[in-house]
Amino acid sequence: MSGEFSFIHWLRERTPDTPRVLVGPGDDAAVLAPTGRPQLVTVDMVMEGTDFHLAEVGARAAGRKAMAVNLSDMAAMAGVPTAAVVSVALPQNNGRALGEELDLGLREMADAFGVAIIGGDTNSWNGPLVISVTVLGEATERGPVLRSGAQVGDWILVTGPLGGSIRGRHLTFTPRVKEALHLHAAAELHALIDISDGLAADLNHIREESRCGAVLYAEAIPFSADGVALSRSSGKSALQHALGDGEDFELIAAVSPVDGERLIREQPVQGITLTKIGECVGTGLWLEQDGVRSKLEPAGWIHQL
Ligand SMILES: [Mg+2]
Repeated sequence: MSGEFSFIHWLRERTPDTPRVLVGPGDDAAVLAPTGRPQLVTVDMVMEGTDFHLAEVGARAAGRKAMAVNLSDMAAMAGVPTAAVVSVALPQNNGRALGEELDLGLREMADAFGVAIIGGDTNSWNGPLVISVTVLGEATERGPVLRSGAQVGDWILVTGPLGGSIRGRHLTFTPRVKEALHLHAAAELHALIDISDGLAADLNHIREESRCGAVLYAEAIPFSADGVALSRSSGKSALQHALGDGEDFELIAAVSPVDGERLIREQPVQGITLTKIGECVGTGLWLEQDGVRSKLEPAGWIHQL
């Protein structure tokens, strides 16, 4: 990266005016107007070699992913994202071009959700590309939806087919921000999480925080075409991909049986199909297949199959 190049200066010139942002990039801190709503904050870091392969996908896709994973966490709270700050460690070699490509991806995703990039920090080093994005947001009138509100008897719904995101969807997915807000308006959501670690692992987070158990119905879980394609060569079934693969970035919701029945029948959220994949039970994490219930490890590894 050239010494004179200031990524933040460049960002500043590209930051649109919005009434929420009283002071944007360029001062020591950004200033936001208060809104009176509970404020949500989430941060996630993505790293070259772990979360993406820069040589294969390019900096734009990496930037898009860095913003999108944070927006997915905001969706998982049923929050409205408003602003973001971005910290970047750029490799010294070709840093400026990388920074600009990166910004295209970050901004593409931020713009799509009305998120202002209000500041950040750029460093260069003799190491791989690392991007940390913090997204700010606010709860709607119905409040944020936590992981901890699921109750025994609740239906477990998912917003889309699962598995095989490594084939490309982990970079190109659309975070379920709008869908979460529609769902939150359509029903009382007891618990909500986005699938980053994998269906079994993330459902286990809900189960642990809600102090209940959960059973998944193997025959009900929707498989993505990617998971099915992978299963032809991976040595794993499409079910195992759906249970264990990470970064689907669909949402898992727990709702009352009455709301669940209505949501499945009415399908009120445009662009997605809600599927009932399980129920909350007293204790444990289970997979029911062909009428037989067996213990499911949070990693998605299936015993006794
Ligand atoms: Mg999450």
